[in-house]
Amino acid sequence: HLSQRLLRVASYVPNNARLADIGSDHAYLPAYLGLNNKLAFGIAGEVVEGPYQNAVSEIKKEGLNELVKVRQADGLAAINDDDDIDVITICGMGGPLIREILEKGNLKLVNHPLLILQPNVGEKQVRNWIVANNYRIIAEEILTEDNHIYEIIVARYNESLFELTATDLEFGPFLRKQKNKVFVAKWQAELQKIKYVLEEMKKAKEFPIEQEHKMLTKIKRIEGVLDD
Ligand code: SAM
Repeated sequence: HLSQRLLRVASYVPNNARLADIGSDHAYLPAYLGLNNKLAFGIAGEVVEGPYQNAVSEIKKEGLNELVKVRQADGLAAINDDDDIDVITICGMGGPLIREILEKGNLKLVNHPLLILQPNVGEKQVRNWIVANNYRIIAEEILTEDNHIYEIIVARYNESLFELTATDLEFGPFLRKQKNKVFVAKWQAELQKIKYVLEEMKKAKEFPIEQEHKMLTKIKRIEGVLDD
């Protein structure tokens, strides 16, 4: 019962990974990977009691207790140094929370694990963390499921400098080149939303000119990417 979203995330996990899935809830992702013999070792990390219990029962039900350890901890605190984790997945949360988890847990990243991140919103925050921490985006994907749009960002540590333009940070360096249907739909919807707010603001007697300017700039940027 893995969602298409998590199936796509799973597709980026290398064989024999030592994986930590942070914010695992039901631990469906590590359970799926474990059952398909993709894992050398797994951690399902959860900070909240209810989801932690969900993970415990799922891993037990699937008979994966030896392979996947369920730990109740805040963010990357679920990882111990001797776990030798080489892949971290953080999925189904907002970009700012993913970023905060990576920031708070940066001591757990000294071995530079592969990061597979799936922000529901605020992807820009995630890309900002990536470029600021010597990681490089190696793949991106955007997909829709149950009327939601999801992005997946895969990042690998690299010694050399990796920079992104403001446009890349916002739209995604790979996504804006691929420009698939979901990407176009996402940004067309965003465009409509901004144009609507702008119209409403114009109806009001007073509205801050800087605000209008900001929105016009954003409209231009989105149109630029869509027409590129
Ligand atoms: N990763 C699963 C997925 O993509 O389907 C579950 C996503 S669920 C919406 C987000 C989970 O992250 C919740 O279960 C929540 O308790 C957990 N979470 C939020 N902040 C966390 C943190 N700092 N450390 C660990 N888990 C966290």
